[in-house]
Amino acid sequence: MTAGTPLVERDADVVVIGAGIVGSAAAYSLAKRGVRVVVVERGRVAGEQSRKNWGFVRQQGRDPLEVPLTMEANRIWQGLERELGADVEWTQGGNLALAVNEPRMALLEQWLPIAREFGLDTRLLRGRELQSVIPGLGGDWAGGLYTPADGHADPVKATEALARGAVAHGAVLHLDCAVQGVTTHAGAVSGVVTERGEINTPWVVCAAGAWSSRLARRLGLSLPQRWVRGTVARTTAAPAITPCAVWGPGVAFRQRRDGSFNIAAGGALDHDVTLESLHQLRFFLPNVWKNKAMFRFHVGRPLVRSLLAAMPGSAARRAPLVWDRGIDPVANETKVQRGLAELQRVLPSLPRLGIAERWAGYIDATPDLIPVLGPVARPRGFVFATGFSGHGFAMGPIAGRLVSELIVDGKTSLDISGFRFARFAEGAMARPRNVL
Ligand SMILES: Cc1cc2nc3c(=O)[nH]c(=O)nc-3n(C[C@H](O)[C@H](O)[C@H](O)COP(=O)(O)OP(=O)(O)OC[C@H]3O[C@@H](n4cnc5c(N)ncnc54)[C@H](O)[C@@H]3O)c2cc1C
Repeated sequence: MTAGTPLVERDADVVVIGAGIVGSAAAYSLAKRGVRVVVVERGRVAGEQSRKNWGFVRQQGRDPLEVPLTMEANRIWQGLERELGADVEWTQGGNLALAVNEPRMALLEQWLPIAREFGLDTRLLRGRELQSVIPGLGGDWAGGLYTPADGHADPVKATEALARGAVAHGAVLHLDCAVQGVTTHAGAVSGVVTERGEINTPWVVCAAGAWSSRLARRLGLSLPQRWVRGTVARTTAAPAITPCAVWGPGVAFRQRRDGSFNIAAGGALDHDVTLESLHQLRFFLPNVWKNKAMFRFHVGRPLVRSLLAAMPGSAARRAPLVWDRGIDPVANETKVQRGLAELQRVLPSLPRLGIAERWAGYIDATPDLIPVLGPVARPRGFVFATGFSGHGFAMGPIAGRLVSELIVDGKTSLDISGFRFARFAEGAMARPRNVL
């Protein structure tokens, strides 16, 4: 991997923008198939969402369109450590979504026909069955939705291993090097402009996470994408309780190899209002309005920063894709403390735990909460792999493989038409259909 060095390649078969799990997996799959691929990353590998996520690799509760992809992703995850020769802390301990009352249980139950349709072993658990998955589970639960084949892994280890795998197969990775634009000729991609020069290429994969919308705008592509601030914390270590990843109404958690828990409190989602909140509002407004109790809107520094950025002559005007590099959203401390208290309530046998670390990250959410994956009509050669709406860690490996199939074979082994960019303009966007 190279950092701070000048670009040397004049040409590449494919340029991947972003070295999160999606870009790294795409580069890995492409390089394995002999494609000359260059990854351009404005920060470090797994510097954004792919560092900050919970690490759940979950199939259950998904939008039906996503299920075939998450099932194939699960198969890839099962062999990933062997394939990459790396420890990514893969733990196939299942995923359990807890329901506090019967209406919630009924909602979870609605997902069972989807599991059956795809042949996924997902069950409803009640009473003592919950204890067999989470020994000593405290609290009063109606039951839960459980998929034993689900798992979890370490986000940074997994993403870095994929990036290393890409490099081992010949990919070139440029860190601290932002893409400033994509050039086109006769309706097709012709290259990318980076901070260290230009690369000629017929293919660009946009895996820029929460910044994909800004990047696309420079090509006249209007990608509806919202930033949702997710707060996560890591506790001090505790004796092993369960390998299962748990999603309760008050706290989601998974226990890591070192005994610490990654926790995230339930409750309203944080949205930092910025000027970009106004972009494509019509796509988001119906869902936000319907579920307004689920959102907390914060007016503060991010808004001021975005207003300053809009001033004539500002850094943001001069370099719209670079000016906020290194942005580090603030963790919601109330949620951290609430999540810890709820963890201690749900697992009463735990010793008193402390918070070792807390952080926050911006989730790139689309209006229908499913990704944008596949080529655009114009410019030809531009492929989106973004908008994973909080599911992209699990789906990263399969998203990467599908991108490589698209570019190398001209078709994909799984149907990705439901993820097409054009659905927004066509008015073919469905309401969100995930239950978790
Ligand atoms: C708090 C939180 C919890 C989550 N929990 C889960 C979970 O449990 N399970 C799950 O499956 N998913 C989860 N997610 C979602 C998951 O993390 C993301 O969907 C996934 O990491 C997206 O990967 P990515 O590669 O698309 O984006 P990112 O990891 O964000 O990577 C995008 C990269 O593009 C780079 N970039 C941007 N602009 C440019 C540019 N102009 N030039 C060069 N590089 C650029 C960025 O620096 C960044 O490194 C969670 C996310 C958050 C924030």
